Amino acid sequence: MKVTKSDITISAVAPKQYPDVGFPEIALAGRSNVGKSSFINKMINRKSLARTSSKPGKTQTLNFYLINEIFHFVDVPGYGYAKVSKTEREAWGRMLETYFTERENLKATILVVDLRHEPTKDDIKMYDFLKHYDLPVIVVATKLDKLKKNQIHKHIKRVKDTLQLEKGDVVVPFSSETGQGKEEAWREIERFL
Ligand code: GDP
Repeated sequence: MKVTKSDITISAVAPKQYPDVGFPEIALAGRSNVGKSSFINKMINRKSLARTSSKPGKTQTLNFYLINEIFHFVDVPGYGYAKVSKTEREAWGRMLETYFTERENLKATILVVDLRHEPTKDDIKMYDFLKHYDLPVIVVATKLDKLKKNQIHKHIKRVKDTLQLEKGDVVVPFSSETGQGKEEAWREIERFL
């Protein structure tokens, strides 16, 4: 997809603020600091529409980005940030669960993981949660540029094995630095629009 228009629609703190226009939504999930904002920015050719922050876990809102006036990318709060209180974490958890289980506009979720590392317990939980609710998942394994060529295959296999990826689900190796994987990521997304 050639992105010619992208804008933030809203940073929603509560469901009543979610956009009520019926655009399809592609959500982004992943642990904080994994590279979600960088992924969005690279996909839409913007330097910093999605905030890449040095303070992981600070985004406690659902950020809706309208792309080409066709669909919304929905950036959800990153998980696995140790320094938030239990109460805060539970509140996010409820907000996310409601969004993922009740939002009719939601067509697919991009689970962003770090290709350098084995997926975390939280990554596995997120994948299992989405599969449990029969929600389509696209796994994007980012920071591809940080690996040597001869390591890539092994790392992709580790992501697949650790998540116990179901048949038909894909892992898209991606780099927000170089743009590698961008076309494949768009192809996967467009299947759901
Ligand atoms: P978020 O918290 O998931 O939105 O993560 P960010 O997009 O803010 O990224 C966290 C850090 O990882 C930033 O310093 C980014 O520059 C860096 N980063 C993200 N994606 C990549 C990538 O593909 N390659 C490299 N080398 N660094 C990346």
